[in-house]
Amino acid sequence: MTARPVIRMGHPTLRQTAEPVILSEISTPEFKELLANLYDTMKVEGGIGIAAPQINVSKQVTLIELPANNERYGTLESSPLFIIINPEITIIDSELQGFWEGCLSVPGIRGFVERPRVVQINYTDELGEQKQFIAENFLATVFQHELDHLFGKLYIDRITDTTRISFLDEFNEFNSVKKEDTLEE
Ligand code: ZN
Repeated sequence: MTARPVIRMGHPTLRQTAEPVILSEISTPEFKELLANLYDTMKVEGGIGIAAPQINVSKQVTLIELPANNERYGTLESSPLFIIINPEITIIDSELQGFWEGCLSVPGIRGFVERPRVVQINYTDELGEQKQFIAENFLATVFQHELDHLFGKLYIDRITDTTRISFLDEFNEFNSVKKEDTLEE
C-alpha cells in the first residue's frame, strides 16, 4: 500500500481548478499508480472519498466508495467504488438537504452544509469510457463534496450558517447527530 500525505486547507493546490485528464493518459502505468495511491490513501485515512488535489496532484480525478456495514456509517447506504475522471455535474433536484461534513484536508472540524438533493454526473471511468450516474440523498452530498475539490472549493465555502461549525470533540460532545448522518471524507 502506498498512501500519500494529504494536504490541508491553506495549501494553494486545494484552491486551483484541477487539470482535465488527457484520455490517452488513463492507460499509462503512472495514471494507474495515481489511482492506486488515491485508493490506499482513502483507506488509510478512513475516508469515503478522496480527490487527487488532496494528495497535491492537480488533476480531475476523484474516488468515492461507501463501504457496506461500515462501522461509522452503519447500513445507511453503501456504494460501489466510483473512479470519476473529468466530471460534469448537473443539478436534477435543487431541493436542499443538509448533512454535517468533514474533510481530510480540514481535519478536526465538522460543518453543516446544505446541497441539492439529486445530481447527475457525466464522467470518464478508469477504462476511458463515458459514464453517467444519478446520485441522490447522502451519496449526492458525497459526490458534490468530492467534485468541489476538483474546482478549488472546500465544504467550508458552502456553509451558510457559521454557528454550525464545530471542532470534532465538541461536535461529539454536544451534538446528537447520528454518526451515519455525517460525511467524514
Ligand atoms: Zn474533502
